[in-house]
Amino acid sequence: MDRRLWRTKYGSFPLLPCPRCRNGHLRSYAKHFYRLQPQHVSTALSHLEMGGVSEGRFTCFLICDFRFCGEVVAVSGDYTSREEDIFNPETEEYDTYDDKTVVPRAMVPAPPIITWPEKLEAVPRQHLIQAFELFWMNRGACANRLRIFIETLLDQLAVAREGRKRNGKSGDLDLAERIDLLNETQSGHKIALDALRYVGNFGSHEGGADFDDLLDCFELIEHTLIELLDERSAKLQAKAKAIVSRKGKPKG
Ligand SMILES: [Zn+2]
Repeated sequence: MDRRLWRTKYGSFPLLPCPRCRNGHLRSYAKHFYRLQPQHVSTALSHLEMGGVSEGRFTCFLICDFRFCGEVVAVSGDYTSREEDIFNPETEEYDTYDDKTVVPRAMVPAPPIITWPEKLEAVPRQHLIQAFELFWMNRGACANRLRIFIETLLDQLAVAREGRKRNGKSGDLDLAERIDLLNETQSGHKIALDALRYVGNFGSHEGGADFDDLLDCFELIEHTLIELLDERSAKLQAKAKAIVSRKGKPKG
């Protein structure tokens, strides 16, 4: 995950990953950018005598640059812009630049914020993809979706939904109890999963989630998926053990 790509506002869009193919990046084109200022904003700005300032709504298309893909992502949201006059020493005149900032409120289909192992099954994968879309629309809903993603990931890992609860009785296990159950067989992920659980709780009950916290969650998920599904550390350890057991002699 490249954290620099994901921001609440952009001057211009960086090369975001394509939601359809793993090869391409999304490019923006001036001819596909459209913006409109509402009348009430025009009236307010003229009362304030703020010439050169504009605010309103924008839409644009980002297009995948991989020749065989060419996926189109529709982006919309809010913009602000301010005209700036900058002196050009060559012409000895002032050139006017449009200093524009856009705040995306929707990206459809949404670019993937993280990558995931091939082994991730369809149900958790769909929840993850929906979390990418909700990330722009409603951060609380995104956090809540990540919590559902964790529940379905635990299903894929065959962690029971029912069993002996913390109070000793048997019944439906809550997410915390299921994470504890996973920890009994595959330790080392409890703290990451608990962090996701807390952010998901906050998103569900308070209705909001912090932008940076959500990015932390995506980063934790990316790392946890590699460890749980690809078992990268375990495989590396096995390779190290094999070399140690041969005392460094070549395999033969
Ligand atoms: Zn593509």
